[in-house]
Formats: sequence, C-alpha cells, structure tokens
Amino acid sequence: MSEDSLLDDALVRLDEAAAHLSIDPDVIEKLKFARETTKVRLMIRMDDGSRKSFLAWRCRYDDTRGPTKGGIRFHPDATADEVETLAFWMTFKCAVMNLPYGGGKGAVQVDPRQLSKAEIERLSRAYIQAFARILGPDRDIPAPDVYTNSMIMGWMADEYAQIVGQAEPAVITGKPISLGGSLGRGDATARGGYYLVRHLSADLGLGENLRVAVQGFGNAGQHIARLLAADGHKIVAVSDSEGGVYSEAGLHVDMLVNAKANGHSVVSTVGQGGHEALKGEALVGVECDLLVPSALENMIHEKNAGTIKARLILELANGPVTPEADAILARKNVIVLPDILANAGGVTVSYFEWVQNKQGFYWTERDIHDRLREIMEREGRAIWNIAKDKGVSVRTAAYVHALDRLAEAIEAHGTQSFFTS
Ligand code: NAD
Repeated sequence: MSEDSLLDDALVRLDEAAAHLSIDPDVIEKLKFARETTKVRLMIRMDDGSRKSFLAWRCRYDDTRGPTKGGIRFHPDATADEVETLAFWMTFKCAVMNLPYGGGKGAVQVDPRQLSKAEIERLSRAYIQAFARILGPDRDIPAPDVYTNSMIMGWMADEYAQIVGQAEPAVITGKPISLGGSLGRGDATARGGYYLVRHLSADLGLGENLRVAVQGFGNAGQHIARLLAADGHKIVAVSDSEGGVYSEAGLHVDMLVNAKANGHSVVSTVGQGGHEALKGEALVGVECDLLVPSALENMIHEKNAGTIKARLILELANGPVTPEADAILARKNVIVLPDILANAGGVTVSYFEWVQNKQGFYWTERDIHDRLREIMEREGRAIWNIAKDKGVSVRTAAYVHALDRLAEAIEAHGTQSFFTS
C-alpha cells in the first residue's frame, strides 16, 4: 500500500489490465482521473441546540456508460481519496456486470454512532440539500454503504422529493420497500457473492462443509454467514469493529445476528454456545477454507497476508486486499474473487430497483434472485475464462473484462471530440 493514496493503489490494477488489451492510451489516461469531485461542509443542529459541521463529498468518477452510481458512506475516517477510489471501483464494477451505469460515490466524515437518530436524519437531509443539483435519476444515483442503511435512503429520497417538488424514487436505491425499494436488496451483496462461489465451486475445487471466516458483521457479513450456514457450511470465525469470536465446531449465526440487532458486538456472545474470543487481526489467520472480508479497505495487507490459511477469498468489502498482499496471496496460490465482481450483487439489485421505479412495475423476490443469479453466473464465468485463457489472476481478468467494455463505450462516444473539448 502506498503511503498516501488509495487511488494510486487502485490504479495499479488498471495498468495491469491495460497490459492485456490494445487500448488507446488516451482512454487509460481518462480513467485515471475523476470527472468531478465536490466537497462541502454540512452544518446541522444537534439535539442540545448547538451546531456542528461535517465534511462531505460526492464524486462522479466516470459517466461514459450511464449515470453515475454509488453508495454514501458515513465514517469518521472518510477522505476525498477514499471517495474517489470507491467511485473508481464502482465504474469498473458496473462495467463488469454490464449495467448501464458509470461510477460514483459519496461520504460524510462522521461517526454516526456518536449521533442520535434525529441528528443522523438532519445530517442525511443536509447531504441531499448540498448535493441535489449533482444527483438525479439519470445523472447520479446514490445507495447505502458503510454505516448507512435503507432508513437513511428513505430520508434522503424524501428530502430530494421535497426539493424537486415530486416523488423521484429512481434517484436513490436501497430504499425501504414502502418507498419504492426492491425486494431482495437487503441481502443482495452477500447473495451475489454466494451465487458466484456456488457457480464456480467445481472450478475452485471446493467441497462440501467448508469452514468459513467472516471479517465484519454488518449487512454483507451477516447475510453471507446466514446463506452459507444454511447450505451446511461451518462459520468458524466472525469479527466486527470491537473484536472477534471463534468456534471450531461452528458459531451460532442466529445468536450473532441477534446480538447485532440489539446493538451489541459479536464479542458479547463470548462464553455462550462455545464461542471463544479472537483478538485483533487474528481472524485473518484462522484455519478455514474460505475467508470473506466484509468490513473495510486494506484489512489484508503485507503484514498479515502471510498468515492466511484459506484457499479462497471472497471480497465482499471494497478493496480489502492491498496490492502487496495480493502478490503474497498469489505466491501462496490463494484464489481471490475480487470486489468488483464478488460484491457486485448489491449494485445489480440496485439497478433492478431503479428499473422497477422507472417502470412503476414491481417484481417478485423470486424474479430478483433469478435475475441476479443469471448475471453473477454469466459475468463470473466470463471472467473465470479470461483468467484461464490469459493465465492471470481473477482480479486482473475482472479488470480486463470491464476495461474492454469501458474502452468500447469511450470510443463510441467519439474519441476525437471528447479529448479535444
Ligand atoms: P456495515 O456498516 O453494515 O458493516 C460494516 C461492518 O464492518 C460492521 O460490522 C463493523 O463493525 C465492521 N468493522 C468495521 N471495522 C472493522 C474492523 N477493523 N475489523 C472487523 N470488522 C470491522 O457495512 P456493509 O454495508 O456490510 O459494507 C461492508 C463492506 O462491503 C464495505 O467495504 C462496503 O463498501 C462493501 N459493500 C457493501 C455493499 C452493500 O450493499 N451494503 C455493496 C457492495 C460493497
């Protein structure tokens, strides 16, 4: 990981992919810079009557393939660099899945755990007031990300409707069902990864009864644990921001989900049902077949990659493995199913939500699952084949797949006029 820029690390992957395609260097150059990143300071009234301000960003990285699409993160460590990197990944993720979107992302630098519900609502509405002119159902479409959820998307959609004077459900995805949200959005990120692993299982040499470790136990982490446990796999370790738990015999997933629903850490289950405490980053190195990073960026790095025992990593988080760690994992023959493919189920069902909002016609949960599975399997298979044909990692293959589509669209727009404007 380079000292100061997550985006520089991400761009390494673009260069790696470009080496396998013959693409106009101008196209690569264009993809190295965000189209626009807007920074504002949001000021809100706190419950005690005082005022507090928070830095916030919205980045529209590239809109060649359609309106920009990407979540809004509430996190104390959010930075412009992180927002642009996440928007870059969204650009590639939407191209991987062949969705008619470009990539965007937003963030507020805040620890929402320190705010009351009413303060979070005021902050969410302030975000939309500040960025309403950038957003739009055919321009830039947010969604939930770390520490934001469907309730927040509902407040944001409501604020946007008040500003434009009419309901515009397609401006935001991940909304509550009652406001035009889609069935199947809640577990879509994990479900997409689950369908991918199931589809490639024979190619990956996976058997039955896998031992699974899940890092991060929020939306993505809880649902993948639930889906895999229901198939008879054993969830041996999970962690959240306060620590981890381990059980060789398998953790009680329902107990962990209940603890989180009641506002407690997974650590609160230590001592019950055979759950033992795991310290610090120990989860990464536990004995398991499948490791599922579902927390934040750079959690698997140069210093802990060597401890990994898993044969397969499913990146439900965005950017959990640094380029240095990737090289170590390649030497250990650990296969990494990369974020821009593995967690693309979330944006894919967001796309379904947007389509349903525009049509005013709503699909059944079965329709959503079937369509998601079909796309995950189709794009997963295409990427797996590129990896085999070119003898590259699945990550590089995913970037090659996406870059091919992006380059075609950029050139179709008329390269000459584009670059001379
Ligand atoms: P979330 O806020 O629901 O959960 C995040 C989890 O990570 C929490 O359990 C938190 O305690 C844990 N965490 C934070 N720091 C940690 C640490 N140091 N060690 C272990 N756990 C830690 O967020 P989410 O929506 O599940 O997103 C998780 C990741 O998945 C992010 O990288 C996000 O960008 C990515 N992602 C999410 C979606 C989605 O639809 N929710 C879609 C695509 C990608």
